[in-house]
Amino acid sequence: MKRISVILLILVFLCGCQKSTAKLLEELGYSEEDITLIESLSEENQARFLESYDEELLELIKLQDFKEEKIDEYLKYRGDLEDEKLIEMVNNGMINDDNHSKLKELYASEYYVPRKEKLYLQYLDSCNDVRSMMEIVNTGRYRDLYTDIETTDVSKKELMLVNKYYQLPADYVPDELVDVEAALGRGQLQKEVYEAYKPLYEEAKKLGYDLTIVSSYRSYDYQYGLYNKYLQSDPQEVVDTYSARPGHSEHQSGLCMDVTIPGYSLDNFYKSDASKWLAENCYRFGFIIRYPEDKTDITGYQGEPWQLRYLGKAVAEDVYKCGITYDEYYACFVE
Ligand SMILES: [Zn+2]
Repeated sequence: MKRISVILLILVFLCGCQKSTAKLLEELGYSEEDITLIESLSEENQARFLESYDEELLELIKLQDFKEEKIDEYLKYRGDLEDEKLIEMVNNGMINDDNHSKLKELYASEYYVPRKEKLYLQYLDSCNDVRSMMEIVNTGRYRDLYTDIETTDVSKKELMLVNKYYQLPADYVPDELVDVEAALGRGQLQKEVYEAYKPLYEEAKKLGYDLTIVSSYRSYDYQYGLYNKYLQSDPQEVVDTYSARPGHSEHQSGLCMDVTIPGYSLDNFYKSDASKWLAENCYRFGFIIRYPEDKTDITGYQGEPWQLRYLGKAVAEDVYKCGITYDEYYACFVE
């Protein structure tokens, strides 16, 4: 009898405690659902919650994949990741003391592309710099140039990407090609591009920079001839740093042109004030310098301060201000 009484007493006591916890939470305005969740935790973890009324912990507990036995790890790494990502990473044993700050940087980056998550994670541990690793993944530069080639999506119009991984079909010819007036240079451009270029040309001229278009639209066949001509004097790995293989030249899109000024060739154009002015101002007219000197590892081309690529004003400004290549911009924001 005595023993039963003791057990009953303990039970009453425990129920009383639970009731008071529930009551306390109820008085504090917690919903029935929240109270049930909190009460489902071990006593130790309930006490932990009650110590600080940790609202963020409650949010974690509410998530479907929350596992109470992982609570210490969640608490350790929270703040590094969004709640759901935190739970996924902890549950799968993918977050640890060595990589949590890298993971934080990765998932918080504005250049994070969800469909590339597996690749980022593959290269995360061995990388020294998360941002550089992301740039390489975003642009596909973890693989050799001219491998896994895709067809350029020409429906993106002025935002289409043509590079060493994206190829235009041999028969692709832009709509609405117009002739460049002799005073401005030579060749043909897409009409919209040419119209956007004229005010740039005028403003440059007022500043004393007499820009001339020396190369504009090039057909597939023309590029084929040009590339093969270069192959007669340089090995292919060298030619590939300054000339595009046929189908891979942005010139075939009719969206770009090479410019220079009198007294300068393409080779020394970078020394001119006009080159500096173009780099800092062409975005205002809808253009970017397509192959910056400091991005040769990414683009696969030597710097070409003379090649202007049309993207329209909004995107050109965005690319310029982000300071990234169009190859990466396309992967992050266009594709
Ligand atoms: Zn060019």
